[in-house]
Amino acid sequence: MRHADVAVLDARAAESHIRVYNHAADPHRPERLSLMGDLKIAIEQDALALAYQPKLEPRTGRVVGAEALVRWTHPRRGFVPPDSFIPLAEETGAIRHLTRWGLRRALRQTADWAAAGHDLRMSVNLSVRDLGDAALPDRIDALLEETGLKPDRLMLEITESAIMGDPETAVALLSRLADRGMDLSIDDFGVGQSSFAYLRRLPVREIKIDRSFIRTLAETAQDQAIVGTIIKLGHSLGYKVTAEGVEDGPALALLAEMGCDLAQGYYIARPLTPAAFTDFLARHAAGEMPWQAREARG
Ligand code: C2E
Ligand code: CA
Ligand code: CA
Repeated sequence: MRHADVAVLDARAAESHIRVYNHAADPHRPERLSLMGDLKIAIEQDALALAYQPKLEPRTGRVVGAEALVRWTHPRRGFVPPDSFIPLAEETGAIRHLTRWGLRRALRQTADWAAAGHDLRMSVNLSVRDLGDAALPDRIDALLEETGLKPDRLMLEITESAIMGDPETAVALLSRLADRGMDLSIDDFGVGQSSFAYLRRLPVREIKIDRSFIRTLAETAQDQAIVGTIIKLGHSLGYKVTAEGVEDGPALALLAEMGCDLAQGYYIARPLTPAAFTDFLARHAAGEMPWQAREARG
């Protein structure tokens, strides 16, 4: 099917509109294969890293959690953004290894921070392919036991579109995870093909409003109406609501006013290395972050 796609693309540009797949002319194959081979090695050699982006309660100013985001510095290509290798890893199935690696790394870090007195809830992204991994709940149980963390310290983020792709399978696996006390979050909320019929059946604790609605929140009345409505709707269904992609002070102030439970974005902090995150927590505790002055007055 992939070869057919390549041929179709080629045919669109061709005068006759007919093309047979030609391996030598396939621009993607070699690079993709070698990238996936390198990713496999990077996972095995523990050469990937996680960055942690703080999650803030806009109304109290407390930092209560973090989202773990994978970072890959390729030995030759340099930084490879997740958006360019996660979809490939999903295609090839390598994502399951990546997810397991990420869960272990993130939970160990959470345990380290807890031991240092920082009780955080860690969010980890699951991909659509993880939803078919029937062994995942046991795997997570084992990791929780290994790190001594309670299941409610882990929040699993899954996009709306991943769930809607195969809702029955998603509901089955996510229910098993929720039964064990883990919290689920619907990522990129508002841009997918949501069906509330399915969302209602899911054991969801949080919805995360997509950053496309938050980026211009302060300037756009329409975005304010949408975000305000999602917050109200979420609350009336018993969900916590997080806004991601908060890039300026006015947006953060508006979210606090609208009763949004949690906020995440460059304005609060970029995704940080573990050391930088620890530093951030110390500066935050000392009230040294630029956005804290506003709160102290309010
Ligand atoms: P996502 O789950 O929606 O993650 C949020 C993305 O928004 C991150 O991009 C983050 O760096 C970025 N971001 C945070 N604050 C702001 C902001 O204020 N403005 C803007 N413009 N962007 C902001 P990143 O790290 O490049 O990750 C991209 C996507 O790759 C993620 O989107 C997620 O879908 C996927 N991803 C990242 N790490 C993992 C992982 O460990 N496992 C899986 N399955 N997917 C991952
Ligand atoms: Ca996410
Ligand atoms: Ca998101």
